[in-house]
Amino acid sequence: MGPAPFLSAYLVLVCLMLGSFINLAADRVPRGESIVRPRSHCRSCGRVLTVVDLLPVAGYLLRRGRCATCGSRIGRTSPVVEIVSGACMLAMLVWLGLWPGAIAGLALVALLGFSVTGLALRRRRAR
Ligand SMILES: [Zn+2]
Repeated sequence: MGPAPFLSAYLVLVCLMLGSFINLAADRVPRGESIVRPRSHCRSCGRVLTVVDLLPVAGYLLRRGRCATCGSRIGRTSPVVEIVSGACMLAMLVWLGLWPGAIAGLALVALLGFSVTGLALRRRRAR
């Protein structure tokens, strides 16, 4: 994969984490909550989510989107957004090379973030 496989893998990982952040924003922005504080927590029992819960994709697979303590669903966390984010970056890196692929990938992920958050907002208003 291009001349810098390590850097490429790192960029894809960053996008997976950005995907996690998009999930968080899409869950909180429509409620009028801050996307910075408080730390992610379970809405049922209040348990603060650990690194394992927040791990992109892997955390979802381990917990199946449920709280480890009370078993209720955690937000609308969806691994799809994370996978799409990572895939966008990967596709751009393979297609355009490290440069300008990294920029194109980040732009795509940003666009995805705005779209997903916008959709969540609209869904909220429609209710
Ligand atoms: Zn819980």
